[in-house]
Amino acid sequence: MIRLNKGPQPTDSSIEQRVQATQLLTQTFQLLVAAYTELEKKLGPGRPISLTNDIRQWLSGRGVPDNILKEVVFGQQIVENWVVNHKATWVQAVRPLVGFGSGVFDSKLYANKPLKQALVTRQDGKCAYCETRLTDVAHGDVEHFRPKAGYLLDHALQPEAYYWCAYDWDNLYFACQICNETFKGNRFPIMPGTQRATATTALDASVLIDPGTEEPRDFIRFNPLTAKAYPYDVLRVSLTPQDLNTLVLLNPDKIDEVVQRTMATGVLSRGASTINILGLNRATLVRARAGQLRQLRALLLASLITGTEQAGVQQALAQYTNPGPGPFSPEYLSASVDALLAWQAMSQQGSPWHRFGWIASYDTLIATVPPPPEPTPDFSGDDSIMYLVRPDDPKPTEVRRLVYVKKDQELDQAALDGWFVAVNLETEGDDKTSIVTKSGANLTLSELVAHNAPWNFFKKGNVFVTGEFTPLFNAV
Ligand SMILES: [Zn+2]
Repeated sequence: MIRLNKGPQPTDSSIEQRVQATQLLTQTFQLLVAAYTELEKKLGPGRPISLTNDIRQWLSGRGVPDNILKEVVFGQQIVENWVVNHKATWVQAVRPLVGFGSGVFDSKLYANKPLKQALVTRQDGKCAYCETRLTDVAHGDVEHFRPKAGYLLDHALQPEAYYWCAYDWDNLYFACQICNETFKGNRFPIMPGTQRATATTALDASVLIDPGTEEPRDFIRFNPLTAKAYPYDVLRVSLTPQDLNTLVLLNPDKIDEVVQRTMATGVLSRGASTINILGLNRATLVRARAGQLRQLRALLLASLITGTEQAGVQQALAQYTNPGPGPFSPEYLSASVDALLAWQAMSQQGSPWHRFGWIASYDTLIATVPPPPEPTPDFSGDDSIMYLVRPDDPKPTEVRRLVYVKKDQELDQAALDGWFVAVNLETEGDDKTSIVTKSGANLTLSELVAHNAPWNFFKKGNVFVTGEFTPLFNAV
């Protein structure tokens, strides 16, 4: 990940339309909140609420067009969270679901040709997150840094946020599908103790590093021995500048150990979270970086040999640290910079790099051809797994039907039968639940999530979950 200077947004004919579309969504959102509040007052909290014909008409009369009405999310969700810190108990909360489905956003306004081309040019055809140049083999995505149709919390999509950023130039990047779809999805955590942004507040404090407004090298650097990204911010706060330099430049074989030791103390590292959320250490990417470092090292050695071609070698070498934009800006610039800094420091200190057996270690990384990460179109961040509870069976121990809710599925229809309770897939209590498939196989929730294609899994037949559930909140 490197700092990107995208510059001002290109002036194309869609600018005015983008402003209007954002205004319309903001007004509609306010109307939805008003309608929700009104209805909740009438019915009391904790009841399934859905968009009734009355509300539909009311919204329509206030200028909300049909195409938007079709895509609004309106209702509520009961969420149970496993409290693991002190007492083993379930806590419940009702979350309003008010916002927009992803279908409401017009890709012609945020990913039209001039806009996408401007992003591709500014980023030299490289992914904003993994720095892989992808335009030769893929179209790439116009990616929203702050997700346009809500963010993921406890594996359930919270639809109320970031619709106002959908058409904002500063929120758009060119990214590869693997970073964007397989890894990032709608994951957008904010810093603990801070407030989630609304359309009328300033932007919130994201955990993910924004390459357009922050210097990613303050948070993430690359180990020249392993080609892996590591959280530099963790080291920055825990070591003196001198110890930091000694570690990073002269003893890269100790970096992982120090990172792990510091992380074990419970520090929150934006660098570590970003590496994890974007999958920056996926095997395919590590292999590509190692390949580049091997070439770079060979080029550095060639540059030391005087001869008629030395100038050309020097020039080629310099291109590996060219920040761009331009045709010679390299992939994995940040990793190349880190490797060159370490090699230089070691040669100055008389600590030869060859003690690490550079060719053998890069060859080992390159020789392993990992399969590309599995695409996860069927379990995108927009989807969630919920169980359905009928108002007349609020027993603590139950067998419940587990349902897979696709991102654009209308919740209100099915909610007529009962309550959707989002399954918190990160709970440590999930060993108390057992998922039974039609074929009789038993899985825990974590195993289910780890399953390659949960959606296919659900399509195969009814999936039930057995476990302990506290009585339903006011089920009448
Ligand atoms: Zn990428």
